[in-house]
Amino acid sequence: MSRLINNLITQGYLKSDALIDAFNRIGREEFVPEEFVSEADTNIPLPIGYGQTISQPLTVAMMLELLDLRPGQKVLDIGSGSGWTSALMAEVVGDEGSVVAVERIPELYDFGKKNIDKFGFVSLKRVKCVLGDGSQGYAKDAPYDRILVSASLEEIPDTYKEQLTIGGKMVMPIYNSLAYVEKRGKDDFYVERFAGFIFVPLIENSPATT
Ligand code: SAH
Repeated sequence: MSRLINNLITQGYLKSDALIDAFNRIGREEFVPEEFVSEADTNIPLPIGYGQTISQPLTVAMMLELLDLRPGQKVLDIGSGSGWTSALMAEVVGDEGSVVAVERIPELYDFGKKNIDKFGFVSLKRVKCVLGDGSQGYAKDAPYDRILVSASLEEIPDTYKEQLTIGGKMVMPIYNSLAYVEKRGKDDFYVERFAGFIFVPLIENSPATT
């Protein structure tokens, strides 16, 4: 086990066996540009080009623990970037589950898809990569048991709420806090916030210029 993963466990960010296994199997070094491979095992965000970053491992651990993924679930990953979170989640939901990964920057869509398929998940159709704007979710494959958003929003979009199953959970950055949302009934949402995170902003509806 890497020192990074060990530290995340010791510090209490990584807790569940399923997620610890996924972090061990889906190496972050497979999701960073070549020049940053030697830093992949460090607890910092790293550039993936086009002004974007692969999220900090501590943040990913916290978001995915909150999401409480289970085998067989259908997951929407908005802002899939390097593909790391999509592959981690695909590992946890297993071959009965699926992940829809949405990314708006074409080059990162290609980069992420290639990285995710190092583990065979695209070929196996466990992960579907979508190039486009995820600011309204992805209605085509809704509803989802879990939704993860990796770029920060101003508020929780109604479309995301609608695209969640009852009993479903989502985690997303709102400004620099992390919002945890549980859909308890059609119009009944439980929300909890955790402060102190930094994310790149979610860009709405504008074409990606790189
Ligand atoms: N989960 C990713 C995080 C990458 S950073 C990882 O660990 O690598 C957030 C990503 O969100 C960026 O790649 C950015 O291009 C993307 N993004 C921002 N706004 C978006 C939008 N409206 N739709 C889809 N992706 C978006």
